[in-house]
Amino acid sequence: MKKLDIAEKKWLEMKQKYVDDWQPTENDVDWLIKTMKSLNAGGKWTIPAVGATFEKVGYNHLRLESIVTDNILNALISIEKTKKVGEKASIKVDIEKAADHILFCPPQEYLISKPNEQVLTTDKKNMQVPSRKEVFQFMVQKSHPYKFEYVKDNQPLRVSIERKTIYVNEDVMMAVIEDLVKATVDWKGVMRKNLLHEKAHEKFIKWNRKWHIGAEECGWLASYLTDILIDKIYFAENSNYQKWLLLDSRHTFEGTSKQIWDIFSTVATRPRFLYNQAAYWVSVGAITLDQAVDIYPEKADYIVEMSQLFNKIRTEEDLEWAFPKAMEIYTRQFQM
Ligand SMILES: [Zn+2]
Repeated sequence: MKKLDIAEKKWLEMKQKYVDDWQPTENDVDWLIKTMKSLNAGGKWTIPAVGATFEKVGYNHLRLESIVTDNILNALISIEKTKKVGEKASIKVDIEKAADHILFCPPQEYLISKPNEQVLTTDKKNMQVPSRKEVFQFMVQKSHPYKFEYVKDNQPLRVSIERKTIYVNEDVMMAVIEDLVKATVDWKGVMRKNLLHEKAHEKFIKWNRKWHIGAEECGWLASYLTDILIDKIYFAENSNYQKWLLLDSRHTFEGTSKQIWDIFSTVATRPRFLYNQAAYWVSVGAITLDQAVDIYPEKADYIVEMSQLFNKIRTEEDLEWAFPKAMEIYTRQFQM
């Protein structure tokens, strides 16, 4: 409790300095009124630099829906300022009720997993299992300009850059969606993010071609390296993407944690991609290193080393040294 008091006191000091003594300009007011007019009822408005998303819940009423940020102080200040602009513009900016919808990005101390509190929905309709037809139509539409196809083999979402096609097994797709709906995660949000991700691979395909290892080799290591680039660097500024990435990753992590002993009854049968996936989840900030090590203690050293390497990737050019280094870690840890 004491910690909280200090935090609260600090926050009040900050608020006084940056919000209470601040006055909105006429431009600020005009801008909020214009934004409000452009929104339909139920429409969402995200301030990308802040990571805050508001929903228009009434004629002159905005409600803070979620915050995804690594700078929570900056976000809180901006939100308080928006509220103040709202007062001048006669727009109610509701920020209190959002408390249990706030999703913090790293720093990692905020990332304590609370499975039932991660409910972030943008549309109530998306919380029911959709029909196969609805899923297909949605996927075709959001895959554009890529084609979307169902395939026979038991595969998750994949992309062929050459054929400009995204494909997946229909039953796998429906199972994933059903699972998301059951966990009250908006399936459209997750799938939209996934399709953006698959299409982004085109931008970085030269690396995969250069490395001369098969996609599935070394536990999909080459794929995870480009995924880090796509998720952490290419889409860094897209707060919506980041929100769904975290939700999706955490949801998958929780499902894996629960079922790991059912799916792989001995440690020896665990495929190696699990360890790369864990390092990837740590690096995108979806889970903590402790959580990763708890689920796979047998490869704790590997996950620590690989996630540290993933964390060092800051630009596309970093892949130049990151790939040989990742191969070195993999070869050494698995003593090939
Ligand atoms: Zn990928």
